[in-house]
Amino acid sequence: MWRAAAVRALRGGGAGGPRAASGAAAAELRRRLESELEDIRGAGTWKSERVIASRQGPHLRLAGGGGGACGAGGEEEGSLYVPAVRYARFSVSVHAGIINFCANNYLGLSSHPEVIRAAVEALEKFGAGLSSVRFICGTQSIHKDLEEKIARFHQREDAILYASCFDANAGIFEALLTPEDAVLSDELNHASIIDGIRLCKANKYRYKHMDMQDLEAKLQEAQKHRLRLVATDGAFSMDGDIAPLREICQLAQKYDALVFIDECHATGFLGPNGRGTDELLGVMDKVTIINSTLGKALGGAAGGYTTGPKPLIDLLRQRSRPYLFSNSLPPAVVGCASKALDLLMESNAIAQSMAAKTQRFRSKMTAAGFTISGKDHPICPVMLGDARLASVMAEDMLNRGIYVIGFSYPVVPKGKARIRVQISAVHSDEDIDRCVEAFTEVGRKHGALP
Ligand code: PLP
Repeated sequence: MWRAAAVRALRGGGAGGPRAASGAAAAELRRRLESELEDIRGAGTWKSERVIASRQGPHLRLAGGGGGACGAGGEEEGSLYVPAVRYARFSVSVHAGIINFCANNYLGLSSHPEVIRAAVEALEKFGAGLSSVRFICGTQSIHKDLEEKIARFHQREDAILYASCFDANAGIFEALLTPEDAVLSDELNHASIIDGIRLCKANKYRYKHMDMQDLEAKLQEAQKHRLRLVATDGAFSMDGDIAPLREICQLAQKYDALVFIDECHATGFLGPNGRGTDELLGVMDKVTIINSTLGKALGGAAGGYTTGPKPLIDLLRQRSRPYLFSNSLPPAVVGCASKALDLLMESNAIAQSMAAKTQRFRSKMTAAGFTISGKDHPICPVMLGDARLASVMAEDMLNRGIYVIGFSYPVVPKGKARIRVQISAVHSDEDIDRCVEAFTEVGRKHGALP
């Protein structure tokens, strides 16, 4: 008997099952973690994850009954298509799958056949990965080619790749700024900018969201420092609003500051040629540093970068910790991004198609009586105010085959709950119209519309 128990203990209880660490410290840790998790559930801020069983795209299949908040399931474990019959009781046409309005797949390149083919080719030619950081033996010709392409796309001197834009943001401020310098940051900047700034030793100023008077006051205060860097998201992902870069650059010029923008929600589609917020607002020559992602419009795989003056990029290769101490981007990921940039540099047709669909959604929703925050951006927050309303409406939208997400406090300010809709170039006009129809039905049902 003791032998069977010992074998079970060695195996963690069952054949290959999880092993629970023993001891008082492990038990105390488990108790504390469970209590913290309970607090998160109690606060209503628990984030559940739906499991997708298809490629990323405008139409999705959900795995095993939808998972999490998908709700009205009934599918068997492992069945892939959410059965059309599931929607039959809600007066919508039969539709195999969910129409997805919550990915950052703005240009629909995540599952573009040429992007996938480029990834497969890179995988076959350059292997699965480098098992190395860049400066030891992790730099391949495709990494150099992609960096050159990114710099050319943004019309900058050079570029450096990271495993993510989170890393690019975490690695830049510390490498660039010293205690003699100052960084001025929009209060609603992305978490990765906030964390990157925390890591640096520069003097920190936080200005009110897109408030140019406040930025000017902070720039005046920061005149005593050697170097000033204004840091802002180009487009803010919760509100779909675009930073007033023209005014920011004018102030930067007046107070001798540099401008840094995070272009994760702009690269590839804002501006006449999709170069981003700086192109849209005519200040490409006034913004010094751009950080952006390969994980959204540019194929959606993963990866991030900094592009800007060559000496800055050279310094990041020497000093930026997430670059120095983390593995090189896998070849397949590099292949995806490289092909996505080729497609965008060949033609701006995809970006224009997305802009037209964004316009269709925004104008039809406004005509239906909804308030859509932001302007001309594919992030279209449908403002509802009440957290519960946003949550039940999002749930009911999914029941009608439309996948959207409700956001409420603490992700957005109290009283500003909303459902965020993200438009992609690969949505059809019919997809957009179905989404508007569903919003109208659900909005009437729950009292968001008269
Ligand atoms: N910056 C902004 C504004 C973002 O929205 C995101 C992603 O959510 C990031 C940075 C991080 O990008 P990545 O996913 O490449 O780490």
